[in-house]
Amino acid sequence: MQAILEAIQAGASGEEIGNLQVPESYRAAFVKRDEQTMWEGVASEDKDPRQSLHVGEVATPELAPDEVYVAVMASAINFNTVWTSIFEPLSTFGFLDRLGKESKWGARHALPYHVVGSDASGVVVRVGSAVRNWKPGDKVTVHCNYLDDQDPSAHDDSMLAANQRIWGFESNFGGLADLALVKANQLMPKPAHLTWEEAACNALCNSTSYRMIVSRHAGDLKQGEAVLIWGATGGIGGYAVQYVLNGGGTPVGVVSSEKRANLLREMGCEHVIDRREKDYKFWKDEHTQDESEWRRLGKDIRGLIGRDVDTVFEHPGRSTFGASVFAAARGGKIVTCAATSGYMIEYDNRHLWMKLKSIVSSHFANYKEAWAANQLICEGKVQPLLSKTFSLEQTGEAALAVHKNQIEGKAGVLCLAPEAGLGIDDPEFRAKVGEDKITLFQRFGA
Ligand code: NDP
Repeated sequence: MQAILEAIQAGASGEEIGNLQVPESYRAAFVKRDEQTMWEGVASEDKDPRQSLHVGEVATPELAPDEVYVAVMASAINFNTVWTSIFEPLSTFGFLDRLGKESKWGARHALPYHVVGSDASGVVVRVGSAVRNWKPGDKVTVHCNYLDDQDPSAHDDSMLAANQRIWGFESNFGGLADLALVKANQLMPKPAHLTWEEAACNALCNSTSYRMIVSRHAGDLKQGEAVLIWGATGGIGGYAVQYVLNGGGTPVGVVSSEKRANLLREMGCEHVIDRREKDYKFWKDEHTQDESEWRRLGKDIRGLIGRDVDTVFEHPGRSTFGASVFAAARGGKIVTCAATSGYMIEYDNRHLWMKLKSIVSSHFANYKEAWAANQLICEGKVQPLLSKTFSLEQTGEAALAVHKNQIEGKAGVLCLAPEAGLGIDDPEFRAKVGEDKITLFQRFGA
């Protein structure tokens, strides 16, 4: 990959880059099939991704006609890489085996190792024979909606496609590597004013939050609506705050430290709840919730904004879901995309049906939504949430930090990029957007 990196750094033309040889193997972060039972009997919080995530050479897969190879300059850690690395709730090798049975091209994915990572920024180095809109030399970011668009189910909302997958989680050859295998319909232009690592950290979380807050498929936010955002300085929460503010809504952000509360205020989120300080005990014990604690949260929200929230941005899952259903206003909605603390959810259904509330499910984003979310980054209207940057060799350490809730916003990972800070093609626009705004999380993460 060294020759490709040197060509990119020297500003070689697309034609020159396209003529370079793609190596037969490349450096990647992966988990191993023969280690998928290594954590049996170990509590989630004690599982250390540094032991299960390895960095080494893997063979370059054959390129399908609708795919491209991307020389990955930078990637990012998403919570799905934490899930893969602790083999919870399932080992991802089951996903790869299912994909492996689908077609000749799917069979490439069922291997003894799983190259992880669902975000990337980089440069296209080779395109398959059916690729029309992209060419070698294009600077791109990659979104993770991975699907077979020859299936009719993919042609209304592609998140409803029967074979929809998350790239680098439910497929192999993901972004935490020097080279990635990507379908052409995952590509988006790299924001020219951002560094490689600032550009790499957005697509998965930004697109997810766009759908959850903005899209008619989920949040469909209207001006003036109030939204309770759990984990408001986290990966998806930090983008959600920006979408609510941009859309004329009122975010109420929940975080767990004074530092994060200050960061939220810097983002322009006036209404902040520090859940550690409030010490909510939504669960009396493992089996019993405490409605008086839900009421305390509702009272705290009303104390801040004078009313209930129209929407709850829900992802912690079991620990908060009962409170989220309670706290939404009459006729309001709970938009959920995850269950970090447990997926067997309990809530009091009376609070749902008597007050005509709805639970809306959301999962990543279709290409159009991901593109719209990327465009907002390109236009400087949504800022990257990069707070800390790791090397590819440190992927396990970075995943551990996310697992332990030690990262604000996003953890970036340098792949081919030899150092942080490279890749800015439009410094004038960067200055116009504002260095302070772009690097807010980096300054707080430092
Ligand atoms: P992060 O770790 O970056 O942020 C999550 C934040 O949520 C934490 O920082 C923490 O903030 C808060 N949080 C965690 N546990 C609890 C809890 N028990 N109660 C209240 N708050 C809690 O993760 P992401 O934002 O990237 O992802 C969040 C979840 O969403 C993950 O489970 C992830 O897998 C899922 N996800 C799903 C997607 C989809 O397409 N379906 C896409 C992206 C993510 P604090 O401590 O400050 O309150």
